[in-house]
Amino acid sequence: MPHWKAILTSIDNLFFPPVCLACSERIEKVKDVLCSSCKELLSPIKENYCDNCGAPMIDYTCPYCSETDFVFDIARAAFIYQSPVRELIHNFKYNFFLAPASFFSQALQEIPEAQKLAQNYDYITAVPLHRVRYRERGYNQSELIARKLAIKWNLPYIEPVKRHLPTESQTTLNLEERLNNLNNAFRLKKNIDLSGKRIILVDDVFTTGTTVNEVSRVLKEGGASKVAVLTAARAI
Ligand SMILES: [Zn+2]
Ligand SMILES: [Zn+2]
Repeated sequence: MPHWKAILTSIDNLFFPPVCLACSERIEKVKDVLCSSCKELLSPIKENYCDNCGAPMIDYTCPYCSETDFVFDIARAAFIYQSPVRELIHNFKYNFFLAPASFFSQALQEIPEAQKLAQNYDYITAVPLHRVRYRERGYNQSELIARKLAIKWNLPYIEPVKRHLPTESQTTLNLEERLNNLNNAFRLKKNIDLSGKRIILVDDVFTTGTTVNEVSRVLKEGGASKVAVLTAARAI
């Protein structure tokens, strides 16, 4: 009895052989997103990080926490934002490669505080995209990671916040411009009550933390008692 799924997969591979989503090298296993040499370059953040915002610490004083008044209670990231994670996230975000959702959700399940977060929090949500951006892209990469985590941790996935301004790309702006740009970009949806709820907020990359901080502020204004931010990567 032929295994149809295996046959379909091999036909698929004939036309679309699986490649590493960071360096385009051919890979053996369809399920893998990175080749073995790229995997060796991964830099998971498992120790020596800021207790509050999760930044890899070079010093005793966290430069991020001293600069910004973070509203969230804790932030953690799975990897440092550098090659091959940078390329992986780019392909995930813009090129319709969806397999990194499982990869990053798995990595977040392996951070030191994962069990505590899974047990102590009530809901999972993701930084929303503006509806125009969502339509263009077809999906929200952060939502895909969040939904995978929600299933694994048996927590409801919710969408209490909407992005009502199609904020331009943040990468070319300085900190002050980013803050102005994000001011009021997010709003709580109507009739949402998050009183006393502890919420896990997922995003792809933590750069200065302004985006996740703004969404955390909205969640807390909606009554959330705690917000934990989880991102696939952390810029340094
Ligand atoms: Zn590679
Ligand atoms: Zn910090």
